[in-house]
Amino acid sequence: MLSRYPLLALALLAACSPAERAPDGPQEPSRVIEYPPYRGVVLVTIDTLRADHVSMHGYLRKTTPFLDELAERSVVFENAQASMPFTGPSHSSMLTGLHPFQHKVMVNGQTLSPEIPNVAKAFRDAGYRTSAFVSTGFLRSVTKSFDEVSLGKRSGRETVEQAVQWAQELEPGTPFFMWIHLFNVHEWEIENPNKDRRPELAEGSFPLAPDAWYDYLAKHHGWPMVQATDPFPEFTWDTNRRIISSRETLLETVDRYDAQIQYTDASVRLLFNKLSEVIGEDPALWLITSDHGEGLGSHRYKGHSGQIFQEQLHVPLLVFQQPALTPRRVSGVVSLVDVAPTLTAGLDPQPPAWESLSLWPLILGEQSGFSRPAFAQRSPVGTAGDVFALIHEGHKYLYRAKHQDAYYDLTQDPQELNSTPDAPGAEPTRAMLHAQLKALDWSVDGQDTDISDLPEDILQELKALGYVE
Ligand SMILES: [Zn+2]
Repeated sequence: MLSRYPLLALALLAACSPAERAPDGPQEPSRVIEYPPYRGVVLVTIDTLRADHVSMHGYLRKTTPFLDELAERSVVFENAQASMPFTGPSHSSMLTGLHPFQHKVMVNGQTLSPEIPNVAKAFRDAGYRTSAFVSTGFLRSVTKSFDEVSLGKRSGRETVEQAVQWAQELEPGTPFFMWIHLFNVHEWEIENPNKDRRPELAEGSFPLAPDAWYDYLAKHHGWPMVQATDPFPEFTWDTNRRIISSRETLLETVDRYDAQIQYTDASVRLLFNKLSEVIGEDPALWLITSDHGEGLGSHRYKGHSGQIFQEQLHVPLLVFQQPALTPRRVSGVVSLVDVAPTLTAGLDPQPPAWESLSLWPLILGEQSGFSRPAFAQRSPVGTAGDVFALIHEGHKYLYRAKHQDAYYDLTQDPQELNSTPDAPGAEPTRAMLHAQLKALDWSVDGQDTDISDLPEDILQELKALGYVE
């Protein structure tokens, strides 16, 4: 019965490619893995979701009750890193297995060339129906390879309803790949009369008394550690130079952000339950993650594209399979570029070899992590010089074109508050990053970030989000 799904039972996991490892670094070994065939493969991306605001990852406030439940039956990656904290580039990395400087989507609105091998194309070539249900307009530019695309600025629930309807209308047994993108969390700051776009916190969302709650959040965000009666050290946190002048403003920020996470978690629950009805007993694979995090006052910064601290890069990642996988937590560092080879690992025909790594050896517990570090880059738009980072086994080294390099021992300083680039522990990661940058022959000046040919409606959407002046 399972043979009706166009997948291989056995596939060879490719070795780590030269582009994805430090030039002198060890290669990942090749191995044969047995994959179950899937009727449905579902990629869910929750835009702008930093991992430390997800209760599945230990956040004290219950923001993701559904993901918490699903995690009990899933493989959860504790250390997934975005390649660039910017929506279009990061989603393109998930879909292609490439970093932004490789797939050339450097800013929102730039088109992901359908000539580049990508997940949607791989599924289509293997006989799957493919669809993208996206909650913004500007991501249209990265969906060229999908059979069906539905997009527009809308709530998570509306997007989920569209996606479920599409799946229900498929011929029974038709294999499918769906990408569902949910944008509510990105909109935490926007006033909206639509209750689906501006939800309230659930009851019981304050796990601590007010002062203790501020202290908990201040510690995890690197906010000013001041008492309610102390004068607050004001700071600005965006290019509009909006002043944060009180503890209350920061607390309100988190409340608004977390309310959107709770709403989105409920949207994912709805999607999961409805699609599970459609799929029935047929095997399915789910991968749920985010494209990047959000500043929320950490490092005195509000948003995401202009910095690459962990609050921008560290995202949740969960893999669920029906029939169920052995649940486990994976602590090793992985990258969102690894999503593409993971989703397509068992396809027949196999797509051209990805440049990134399949997560399957980690999903199956054969490895606890990769020897390859995670690479990240700040958006080049509107920034004073570029910043690149490598994250590897608790070490994070940042090369900054116009400032001194930075190094953080994430095991001792997870909030990245004390840079110690001259520390002995910095050297191996620094050497790897410099070697990788040299090997990549990176040129900031040669990077095309032109979006002047965008349609007016997309341009207006990007302006409203602050991405275009
Ligand atoms: Zn985004």
